[in-house]
Amino acid sequence: MITLKEALTKSKEELNALKVEMEAKAKEGGLNAYIDFASAGDGVPILIKDNIQVKNWAITSGSEILQGYVAPYNATVIENLKAKGFSAFGRANMDEFAMGSTTESSFYGVTKNPHGKDRVPGGSSGGSAAAVAGGIAIAALGSDTGGSIRQPASYCGCVGMKPTYGRVSRFGLASYASSLDQIGPITQNVEDSAILYDAIASHDEKDSTSSTLELVSIAENLDVNRKLTIAVIDNYIAEAGQDIQDAYANTVKVLKEAGHTIVHKNMGNTKYDIATYYIVATAEATTNLARFDGIRYGKRVKGKNLEETFRNTRGQFGDEVKRRILLGNFVLSAGYYDAYYVKAQKVRHLIRDEFNTIFEEADLILSPVAPTVAPKIGSSHDPLEMYKSDMYTIAINLAGLPAISLPVGKNSEGMPIGLQLIGKAFNEQAVFDGAFSLEQAINYIK
Ligand code: GLN
Repeated sequence: MITLKEALTKSKEELNALKVEMEAKAKEGGLNAYIDFASAGDGVPILIKDNIQVKNWAITSGSEILQGYVAPYNATVIENLKAKGFSAFGRANMDEFAMGSTTESSFYGVTKNPHGKDRVPGGSSGGSAAAVAGGIAIAALGSDTGGSIRQPASYCGCVGMKPTYGRVSRFGLASYASSLDQIGPITQNVEDSAILYDAIASHDEKDSTSSTLELVSIAENLDVNRKLTIAVIDNYIAEAGQDIQDAYANTVKVLKEAGHTIVHKNMGNTKYDIATYYIVATAEATTNLARFDGIRYGKRVKGKNLEETFRNTRGQFGDEVKRRILLGNFVLSAGYYDAYYVKAQKVRHLIRDEFNTIFEEADLILSPVAPTVAPKIGSSHDPLEMYKSDMYTIAINLAGLPAISLPVGKNSEGMPIGLQLIGKAFNEQAVFDGAFSLEQAINYIK
């Protein structure tokens, strides 16, 4: 597949021909990465996760409950894409309401990993990552609440970037956990990631958490020769599998050889990441999902009275979504609010402070994305085990930081391994410069 940078030099006719080719290839490839091939114009085609509104397109967040719902307006990111010569093409599969790490919980069925069709592509933006890695999308948008861009990119061997909270508008994104959600690019390489990030980042009055800090083009200033100080968190990697640890050690060596300075640190609060995230995220999710009652959106399942209609309609949520609604209501309930929700908010501050202390000395932090490579489809039965696999990604959302995941090697089974570079809030330039330098130095073979 041509890169995004190359695609920008193509004519409308060439791009339209490419879309026909992409659709045919996607259908015969059997990845189940696309759930639709709608087209919103003839710019450079970008695949869009099923939780981002494109005017007049169905948007279902991978759920049965939103069947039949059509987006009445464009998300700000879609407007931004249009203004820069891109256009939405195709809907990517995802975990229902972006809750999951495998893309197995979608109403449309499981998406497969192009590096091994018996493997999951990761989640929740699994369709976006599988399509980019499988050569059936030039680039895609995903959303990342606790790793959903970076982790599927890592499992599929492509580049996934989560911007600083507030840098990309959330207007028109179906909310999962509003204080954590960010939209970001999934691409074939770091330069394309910077180009797509530049296209979607903006201040937006329609999103009250949108930043007014000045935006400078990252792609135009991408500097492969910049020397950075990169922290490795020694006590952070011990829980990753040996294949991940080996790739990590090799990457540290490559970064040193490329002239970067490595500093060794430890972090004490990481053991609270998962508990904190799953309290904050489920509390916000249960509040956001309260609007899906069969009255205003999606597929109503009528009952004898209003209560039964609510019950029947909400019965369409899948098991994982129901579990999170229950968890969220529990942590917000009168007797437990202080013990869980308020405490989690305090720990969230401690987690952010700890990152900021490291950023007093380092420009970036190098970290695993996931403790393992992509697991086999159907192998994760225990929800707690799945939550634990988010251990390396969720703290970055709790702290609102930018991070990019890029492939650095493969394990003995040929499955891709990604690592992430995490930056200080609004220092996307360092994140991309570091990733660009690592990408050029590491010699990853697709
Ligand atoms: N796996 C995490 C969760 O299930 C993150 C999902 C995401 O980033 N949307 O909540």
